[in-house]
Amino acid sequence: MNVQSLLSARTTGIDGSGIRRIFELGAKLDDPINLSIGQPDFPVPEAMRRAAAEAIEAGANGYTLSQGIAPLRERTAAHLSADLGWDVHPDLAPLDDPDRTALMITSGTSGALMLAAMALLDPGDEFIIPDPYFVVYPNIGKMLGATSVLCDTYPDFRMTAERVEPLITARTKFVLFNSPGNPSGVVPTNEECRELLELCRAKGVILLSDEIYDEFVYSDALEPSPSGEAGARCPSPGRFDRAEEDVLLVRGFGKTYGCTGWRMGYAAGPGPILREMGKLQQYSFVCAPSMAQAGCVAAFDADVSAHVADYQKRRDMVLEILSPVTDVATPGGAFYVFPKVPERLGLTGTQLVEKAIEQNVLCIPGGVFSGRDTHFRISLSASEEKLRRGAEILAELMS
Ligand code: PMP
Repeated sequence: MNVQSLLSARTTGIDGSGIRRIFELGAKLDDPINLSIGQPDFPVPEAMRRAAAEAIEAGANGYTLSQGIAPLRERTAAHLSADLGWDVHPDLAPLDDPDRTALMITSGTSGALMLAAMALLDPGDEFIIPDPYFVVYPNIGKMLGATSVLCDTYPDFRMTAERVEPLITARTKFVLFNSPGNPSGVVPTNEECRELLELCRAKGVILLSDEIYDEFVYSDALEPSPSGEAGARCPSPGRFDRAEEDVLLVRGFGKTYGCTGWRMGYAAGPGPILREMGKLQQYSFVCAPSMAQAGCVAAFDADVSAHVADYQKRRDMVLEILSPVTDVATPGGAFYVFPKVPERLGLTGTQLVEKAIEQNVLCIPGGVFSGRDTHFRISLSASEEKLRRGAEILAELMS
């Protein structure tokens, strides 16, 4: 049988070779300086590990409700109230109030993004994504027969209302916003968030806000919350009056608590969308992993601020080494730095990364995350010693 001829255009239209090629090259290296890792290098907080292990021992190994276990939904709703001032019903579809802001637990942030896109996009529809983007974003369009429209955010990586507005058409369903951003780490200001929210409202499109790194924000990117919550907080389009009516928020536990393999995330926003996402989850992922849900109930009591402060120091060190030789937008969060390959070298991002690999340093070419291949992504998720050595080698290559 010619199995190849049976494959769908949905999958054959997706090119998964970019990152794979780097990993294949990296696999040949002996003890490389690996600056390509997309997850933090600290252990999962003990209370979370214990809660997950205890859940397995206590027999919580079966299906849960599709929308997630009640204790986790209730803790998440309380968190959104304290963090954003949102009044969220901790369930999918309160029968007496179907339009109310609702919440569901998903299989990773990727699960939330996929369900959101499936609930909103028909073939031929459009959605706007930042360029550079998290690798999944354009492929969501390919999987659903919809078109991802790239919003050029170079060189400062700010997805402003001014840059988005000309891209909105009658077919646009949502603007996909990501802060702190992958691969740039850039965090917008509250003012930029407010302008983008106002634009989406005026045009009648949803603002889908991917905030997987929301707790992974450095002190210099925090601002007072416009909705009055105490303390300095990460700017978000969710922080404005009645934002929950127009913002579909997706967040996750994996990056913040070092448990990417648990596959845990959540979505919150307008009830009518959440209800459809819940239906689609029932017929796809079914539910997020039961023991991981139990573990994540403890997440809201865990304090990862020391880890974030540690990453901020690593960011400062990398900027100090690279800024003299190239342009780098200062990351306000996440754990990436996205420097430009200096034009005077006449090299693409891929060519620079190939030279770095020859020197035993692994990082990811910008072309993997973008329509252009002019930058490269460094992950800060490495020991200080390796990170310093890797940054020095990269700086040498660019001098
Ligand atoms: N959004 C962004 C911006 C990401 O960087 C990632 C993971 N790299 C995800 C979503 C997916 O996260 P998860 O592992 O929770 O599916």
